[in-house]
Amino acid sequence: MEKRKLKSMGLLLGLLCFMVLEGFAQDGTSNKVLIIGIDGCRPDALLAAQTPNIDALWKDGAYTFKARTDEISSSGPAWSAMLIGVWHQKHDILNNEYEDPDLEHYPHFFHRVRQEKPEMKTYSVATWGPIHKILQEGDATYTSSKISDVQVASEVATILENKDVDVMFVQLDEVDGAGHKHDYKVESEKYLKAIERSDKQVGTMVSALEKRTSIENENWLIILSADHGGSNFGHGKNIPDHTTVFFIASGESAKKGEITKEVGVVDVAVTAMYHLGIPAKESWDLDGRVSGL
Ligand SMILES: [Zn+2]
Repeated sequence: MEKRKLKSMGLLLGLLCFMVLEGFAQDGTSNKVLIIGIDGCRPDALLAAQTPNIDALWKDGAYTFKARTDEISSSGPAWSAMLIGVWHQKHDILNNEYEDPDLEHYPHFFHRVRQEKPEMKTYSVATWGPIHKILQEGDATYTSSKISDVQVASEVATILENKDVDVMFVQLDEVDGAGHKHDYKVESEKYLKAIERSDKQVGTMVSALEKRTSIENENWLIILSADHGGSNFGHGKNIPDHTTVFFIASGESAKKGEITKEVGVVDVAVTAMYHLGIPAKESWDLDGRVSGL
């Protein structure tokens, strides 16, 4: 082959690699991520409840109902594992007080996004406000804490429909409240009802996303998971009832079907970043792996 042709092929290849890494598919669409975390939602209870919106996501995506969360199955350590991509041994958040987290070495993944792609718009909306304690100044384009899941879903829907968003993280809290009050089990009707309300909120947010005027040029990955399960009106222990969670990755880029490899909540941040064209660097020392793509 002529040298000149080889050179132009090389350039083309380079351009393609660049586009993939920059989060653009070859047809010019941009990759975006919506993560929805349902606090304290057990996978068996999710399957027992009537959840048409969530079912549509996992049936058309990659899923496992045998993923695991942090050994310290409390909200602080577990949400941090999900959003940082490392277990508590590294991030050092051991309770819901968030004392002395090692954010210098292990920051929220929004921090990595800001470093690698400062133009990206990152949003975090939660019912449980302390979740934002691991965000450092400037990490997020926008954060908001609301007093109810309905308010969270409504604000997220408005943002998704109208704003320039690259990453949206959403935390719904009321399923965990129902678990503490009525117990975390499939026999607990009120716990299942709370999961069904979360499903409606997932529906509200996903339909808002579908109404985006720019949706044709966007490739959204929707990730759903939970920070922990529960039993006997509580959680926090290193037992399967508390540490088993679901992981769902839905969208065009998801590899449809059950994920058979081991999946951890630490995979959420790593998978999200990968979809955004930010593959994890060795030096970040993350525990998560890409799952479901
Ligand atoms: Zn929790």
